[in-house]
Amino acid sequence: MTESTADLMVRAENVHKSFGPLEVLKGIDLAVRPGEVCCVIGPSGSGKSTFLRCINHLEKINGGRIWVDGDLVGYRERGGKLHELREKEVAAQRQSIGMVFQRFNLFPHMTALENVMEAPLRVRRESKAEVRERATALLARVGLGDKVGTYPGQLSGGQQQRVAIARALAMRPKLMLFDEPTSALDPELVGEVLDVMKDLAQEGMTMVVVTHEIGFAREVGDSLIFMDDGVVVEAGAPRDVIANPQHDRTKAFLGKVL
Ligand code: ADP
Ligand code: MG
Repeated sequence: MTESTADLMVRAENVHKSFGPLEVLKGIDLAVRPGEVCCVIGPSGSGKSTFLRCINHLEKINGGRIWVDGDLVGYRERGGKLHELREKEVAAQRQSIGMVFQRFNLFPHMTALENVMEAPLRVRRESKAEVRERATALLARVGLGDKVGTYPGQLSGGQQQRVAIARALAMRPKLMLFDEPTSALDPELVGEVLDVMKDLAQEGMTMVVVTHEIGFAREVGDSLIFMDDGVVVEAGAPRDVIANPQHDRTKAFLGKVL
């Protein structure tokens, strides 16, 4: 890797992860510059979600290193040895990393606005008025200015996912991780969520996006990596990888999803 850790928003080096005897990540490298959108594609079970979860230390890695904005994730290095951070320190790191999942997991008993306000109110010492103002603006930004008082049960899947994005943004993350954010949606609702993500990208948010939406990857992605069986098989500019895949496994996968 030629760029220094300090210049990258995400850097992963030789990341290994096993669940018991099952090695799921077999030496993953990744470099994402500030403001870039990195899309991750690959067959089911290839380790995409696991890798994403390693980036904010929801999973402990068994080897290698991950840095976010120059800080080692989950560990402190002292005398050449890695020491795992305490839960409180991990939580503090995680606050600057927003995550959006396939399933939106909104609190059903809270309105859209309350869902967006929840984390900043619980975690940060900000005034309620300040948080409310920001949450209201974020809901407007994802096109839900008229739904602040609506409960998740009354929202479509696409609207719920946009609330989930606003909720992640409420913590002012420097990095957003998306794990198949449109995979659980009816086809006609996919576009509205991708549009919000595209706006976010254009505003300069650094994003790592696991997705099967090849069109999104081609249009919005700055880089694309294809994972299979725990390794990065191929990486490059989305247009190049999609139009001219070099490896048989990439060709076979794209042949199925395109
Ligand atoms: P993808 O997101 O690419 O579909 P995953 O990262 O979810 O792949 O899973 C990769 C592999 O790791 C799969 O074989 C899956 O069954 C396994 N796996 C994921 N999470 C766990 C876990 N908590 N315990 C055991 N195996 C797991
Ligand atoms: Mg997954």
